Amino acid sequence: MDIEQCSSCFADLEPAQIGLCDECQPTATERFLSVISVQARASILDAVAAHYGITADAALAEVTAKDAEHLLDYLREPLRSDTLALMQRYRMQ
Ligand SMILES: [Zn+2]
Repeated sequence: MDIEQCSSCFADLEPAQIGLCDECQPTATERFLSVISVQARASILDAVAAHYGITADAALAEVTAKDAEHLLDYLREPLRSDTLALMQRYRMQ
């Protein structure tokens, strides 16, 4: 039987892994940003970008890094509460 490989980086997978290796699995924040509306996603990334003085693309890389903090830790009120409510709505808290 062939060993399955990660469909992104082609590393050999452990028997329990399917499709992507741990390194290539989307983070919780990546999954969350992929299910919310484009507007909600933009307002979160813009807020992080403004807070750190970086671009929205850099903000996306920052919050979706493997060693990133919880997304809420990057946000201030009232956006923090709005985002928490969104996470609860999508059961992704
Ligand atoms: Zn991989």
